[in-house]
Amino acid sequence: IKETLIDLDKKHFIHPTSSLKQQQETGAPFIFTEGKGVYLTDISGKKVLEGMASLWNVNVGYGRKELAEAAREQMEKLAFTNSFSSMGNEPAIRLAAKLAELTPGDLNAVFFTSSGSESNDTAYKLARYYWKIQGSPEKTKIISRKKGYHGVNIGATSATGITPFQEMTSSLAPDFLHVDTFSTESLRKCIEIEGPDKIAAFIAEPVQGAGGVNIAPDGYFQEIRKICDENNILFIADEVITGFGRTGKMFACEHYGIVPDIMLLAKGITSGYIPLGAVVVTDRIHKDLIKYSEGVLLHGYTYSGHATACAVALKNIEIIEKESLIENSRLMGKELLDGFYKIQKEIDIVGEVRTLGLIGAVEIINPVTNTRFPAHIAPKVSAEAAKRGLIIRTVVFEGMDTLVFSPPLVINQKEIEELLSILREALLAVQNSL
Ligand code: PLP
Repeated sequence: IKETLIDLDKKHFIHPTSSLKQQQETGAPFIFTEGKGVYLTDISGKKVLEGMASLWNVNVGYGRKELAEAAREQMEKLAFTNSFSSMGNEPAIRLAAKLAELTPGDLNAVFFTSSGSESNDTAYKLARYYWKIQGSPEKTKIISRKKGYHGVNIGATSATGITPFQEMTSSLAPDFLHVDTFSTESLRKCIEIEGPDKIAAFIAEPVQGAGGVNIAPDGYFQEIRKICDENNILFIADEVITGFGRTGKMFACEHYGIVPDIMLLAKGITSGYIPLGAVVVTDRIHKDLIKYSEGVLLHGYTYSGHATACAVALKNIEIIEKESLIENSRLMGKELLDGFYKIQKEIDIVGEVRTLGLIGAVEIINPVTNTRFPAHIAPKVSAEAAKRGLIIRTVVFEGMDTLVFSPPLVINQKEIEELLSILREALLAVQNSL
């Protein structure tokens, strides 16, 4: 069967974010058939530890029967009904209320999408609309950060600050600006040049994920919140990766004690069992939308508030809470970091290491020059790790040579040790080959 599938895959399946040439040359490296906890099994029976929780999202781990059951129950009762024209369904209403309860401050009203990219494009439109109905239609610009990742719809691509993603398209959306990743000065300058009366919002991931797991220095986000307030600019936190326990808090904004005006969610909201995203706004924005908006809010996806997706999200959140997965994220994140430090001491090509909860990175450096190697080393490490049964990702754009980690939040001590032991072997194998 494997050969047939590889053949069909080459002919018919255009893989997302993949080298299409490599797909043709080597075929799919893995075709997965089953998952349990932190492990996946592929079609040849090979078992691998998923050090990335797939795409940073399978927080409760694979093979959760409760989620399958929640989907089945809802599908049998009412799989889907649309939420247009103020119609509703019980799971969507209950999930909106649950998200209002979980998100910090007065983030209390929810617009549903089916993905992080849709959450982003929705937020840009809502931010602009918000200013428009307040009588400031010229407040349109969206400022994001270099190395930020916000998705692949045209708005989200335009906000993304990872150049190769932008180079894919010959024309980006207008009114998107990028500032330096952790420089509040760069943001201040940008606001000064553009004028606060032209800017709708500033958007940032509380921890940059796809950009290499870049964790903000102390005080950065508090300063960002201040700058946005001083200039009448909405602050959008893209918690698509960091939400739902990934960083050791329910939402990463909690680390910094800040409340964004708009919070974007997806991924861990259902642990990837079914597509769902959400845009959570403050009472202030919600009230103004109700008060000043006339006519119909002409923005909505067919699947906004999908009953089955929302039922799965509710069950997924229940699991995160019942099984104390946020605490586990903190505890196992600490184990992961301790292990990274040990590896860093032993293996010369390991540079900076960092984690926040269960999201982390290991930088590769040339120990002789203390700079990056001319050719990327991280992909070699990742390939060696895959051979030994561990899936990790690499970030190799714009001078980076970084391994990133984001295992399911259900990972236990023994599995962390296994992850670290394979990582160590893979790093040594590559170091010895240099
Ligand atoms: N925002 C962030 C921070 C992300 O990491 C991602 C995806 O990785 C997205 C948005 C886009 O989400 P999606 O792939 O569900 O469209």
